[in-house]
Amino acid sequence: MKYIFVTGGVVSSLGKGLAASSLGTLLEHRGLKVIMQKFDPYLNIDPGTMNPYEHGEVYVLDDGAETDLDLGHYERFTHTNLSKLNNLTSGQVYSTVLEKERAGKYQGSTVQVIPHVTNEIKARVHEVAEKMGGDVIITEIGGTVGDIEGLPFLEAIRQFGHEVGHGNVLYIHTTLVPYIKAAGELKTKPTQQSIAKLREIGIGPHIILCRTEMPLDADVRHKISLFCNVPIEAVIEVRDVKHSIYEVPLKLHEERLDDMVCKFLELPTPQPDLTSWRKFVQRVIHPTHHARIGVVGKYIELQDAYKSIYEALTHAGAANDCKVDIVRIDAESIEKAGPDLYLNGLQGILIPGGFGDRGTEGKIAAARYARENCIPFFGVCLGMQIAVIEYARNVCGLTGASSLEFDKGTPHPVISLMEEQKKVINLGGTMRLGTWVTDLLAGSKAYDLYQSATITERHRHRYEFNSDYKETLESNGLVISGTSPNGELAEIVEIPTHPFFVACQFHPEFLSKPNHPHPIFHGFVKAAMNHHGTPPPTC
Ligand code: GLN
Repeated sequence: MKYIFVTGGVVSSLGKGLAASSLGTLLEHRGLKVIMQKFDPYLNIDPGTMNPYEHGEVYVLDDGAETDLDLGHYERFTHTNLSKLNNLTSGQVYSTVLEKERAGKYQGSTVQVIPHVTNEIKARVHEVAEKMGGDVIITEIGGTVGDIEGLPFLEAIRQFGHEVGHGNVLYIHTTLVPYIKAAGELKTKPTQQSIAKLREIGIGPHIILCRTEMPLDADVRHKISLFCNVPIEAVIEVRDVKHSIYEVPLKLHEERLDDMVCKFLELPTPQPDLTSWRKFVQRVIHPTHHARIGVVGKYIELQDAYKSIYEALTHAGAANDCKVDIVRIDAESIEKAGPDLYLNGLQGILIPGGFGDRGTEGKIAAARYARENCIPFFGVCLGMQIAVIEYARNVCGLTGASSLEFDKGTPHPVISLMEEQKKVINLGGTMRLGTWVTDLLAGSKAYDLYQSATITERHRHRYEFNSDYKETLESNGLVISGTSPNGELAEIVEIPTHPFFVACQFHPEFLSKPNHPHPIFHGFVKAAMNHHGTPPPTC
């Protein structure tokens, strides 16, 4: 097993996760089995309780772990099989250490950051290596070098490198090489200082990934090589990609990153065959068709809040040879100005997951607009709950129908709290999480999309369709096309008379990959592409 640690310096948001994932892609294409993991130095046990404004999307794994969104990149860029083991936070480390202390496991010693916290961090790398097997583990350390809270992680990976020895461990540091317009120059000083900071801890990176807007010329490369003590080939340019994040592995390959890594770690492997990846990128960049799809949410201004949804739309677009123009619509604006202003002319409307009542009336108006105007509609998690509320109110005549999440006093709680959720006190890690099986109704749209009678999908919700209203909604035309195997929970609803109106309680966006678009996203984008504004007569 070989170990690669990826750190970041100068500023955050450098795309460390993407760089790490892209290296994973390249190594996989060279035939290696790659494992990816992320260390996050914050004190939350996991990001599950964090606001999207703080942290962006919470990415859910098969085993129900609520993790950092970088794990989404890992799953999309590689075939690594992730579980709760693959995302370690300071919160988890400290809580384990403190539990052990209370249990007397340290046999009277003073419990300290070094060695107890650092040992716990190192143990996780070993545990992942042992349990998952493979050729290479790529571990990304969240945060920026110089952050106080990141120190135990950096010390732990330093010790780890010392223990496994030269040739088995590789340190990659990602930095920013800013372009100063007034001087017309790229500046290497921030990189030098960030490497100096890493050296203080005892880590001398072997490879430096330089984020830059401009090409790194020979002079700049030479300077970084000399002052940061790496061979010139180890100064890797990571220029902002023009069109798509999926270009990053191709760019890194042009810079010979994978060659360097394999040489250093003594992994004799052939050049990667990137043909199918290149084809996918070409389909993303130069599609024949277009579709304008509106995403109606409440964190719309935030790039990262619906990351997997946007990626899944891109994958489905590529499979349909279609560029998806995503129009981000703030649900509260719809509440103020009505849906027509924002939704008119769209070829598809998607309502993603969410929590709390802000913007819900705007989302309900959007679902109604899609239903009444025959615009392809896709509801995800909260989006399904919204679709059910809208149908209950405006088709079944259940005035005031709502979810108990937003309106405790609603006369018609068509979305209510799941039985097992009623006793839950703590908020962290207590939702219905992870993979659950859904049975599909033969002859339904869902069945047609999946071409299967049973599916498994990832969940993250507390509330659900209230089965007391099943009959009313069904007799008014709503079809429950996916249920839990015992038939009790509604997992997918659809309107058969509509060209495409599908909503699911789970999060299909977490299972979409570049060359394997998710079937519902695939069908939705296809329907949007074919929607030209004239409602079909059946609708
Ligand atoms: N807030 C809703 C629930 O808890 C939906 C959750 C979601 O969209 N992820 O059930």
